[in-house]
Amino acid sequence: MDLGIKGKWALVCGASKGLGLGCAQALVQEGVHVLMVARGQAALQAAADALAATAAATGAVVQVCAQDITTEAGRAAVFALHADFDIVVTNAGGPPTGDFRDWDRAAWLRAVDANMLTPIELMKATVDGMAARGFGRVVNITSSAVKAPIDTLGLSNGARSGLTGFVAGLARSPLAANGVTINNLLPGAFETDRLRSNYQAAAEKGGESLEAVAARRRAGIPARRFGNPQEFGAICAFLCSQQAGYINGQNILADGGAYPGTF
Ligand code: NAD
Repeated sequence: MDLGIKGKWALVCGASKGLGLGCAQALVQEGVHVLMVARGQAALQAAADALAATAAATGAVVQVCAQDITTEAGRAAVFALHADFDIVVTNAGGPPTGDFRDWDRAAWLRAVDANMLTPIELMKATVDGMAARGFGRVVNITSSAVKAPIDTLGLSNGARSGLTGFVAGLARSPLAANGVTINNLLPGAFETDRLRSNYQAAAEKGGESLEAVAARRRAGIPARRFGNPQEFGAICAFLCSQQAGYINGQNILADGGAYPGTF
C-alpha cells in the first residue's frame, strides 16, 4: 500500500535505536525525509548510515541532530536545522523503575519533562504550521502502562497519563478540521535495549537469569513473543499515512494481546 506521504518531512525523536529507529526506518521506506534525533552522535550517525541504502532507493533525505530533546537548547538546535515538519514522532527514554518512596521532586520533574512536557513543546512548535499547510501527523510513543499501569513504573504511569489527557483535548481542537491528527502509540513489550535492561535489573534483583525473566514475561503475552521495532515502525508509518486521516485522538495499543480488557 502506498501511504501517500513520500516527500513529507518527519522529525523522529529517540531515533538511534529501538522503537524510534523502527519508526524512522518505516518512514524512510515510504520516501519520507527524516530528521533523526538522539543524544549520542556516533550511534545516531551509525543508525542514519544504515538507512542510507533505503533512502537512496526511495528518494528520502536522512539528516541527524545529536541533541537531548528534553532540553530547550536541544529543541532549538533541531528547529534551527529544519523549521517545518509534516510528521512528528515524539519519544525519549523512559523514566527509571523504582519505589515511589524513593522519588524526590527532582526525579518527578525529570520524568514529567521527558515524557509529558517535551512532547507538548514539540507539538507547540509544529502543529500550527501543519494546520496552515492542511496536513499533519503527530505520533507520541507512550506506553501500555498508560492503560495497564505497572507499580514500579510510577514515574512513567504518572507523566505519560498527563500527556495522554492533554492530547485527548488537543487532538479535538480546531487543528482536526485542518488535517492534523494526533495519536498516541502504546508499546507493550518490544525487543529493545530498554526492555533488555529492565529485565536485566529484574533478573539481578530476583537472583534469576535474564532469560528466565524474559521467558516468564513472554508467557504472559498471548502472542508468546515480544514485538519487534520494525512492526512498531509499520504501525507508526500507517498512523502517519494519508489513509489514517480519520484516526485522531486515539491511544493505539501494540502489545500482542497482553492487555486483558475488551476496550
Ligand atoms: P531504547 O532505550 O531502546 O531507545 C531509546 C532511544 O531514545 C535511543 O535512541 C536513545 O538514544 C534516545 N533517547 C533517550 N533519551 C533521549 C533524549 N533525552 N533525547 C534524545 N534522544 C533520547 O528505548 P525503546 O525501547 O525504544 O523505548 C522508547 C520509548 O518507549 C521509551 O520512552 C520507553 O519507555 C517506551 N516503552 C518501551 C517499551 C518496550 O518494550 N521497549 C514498552 C513500553 C514503553
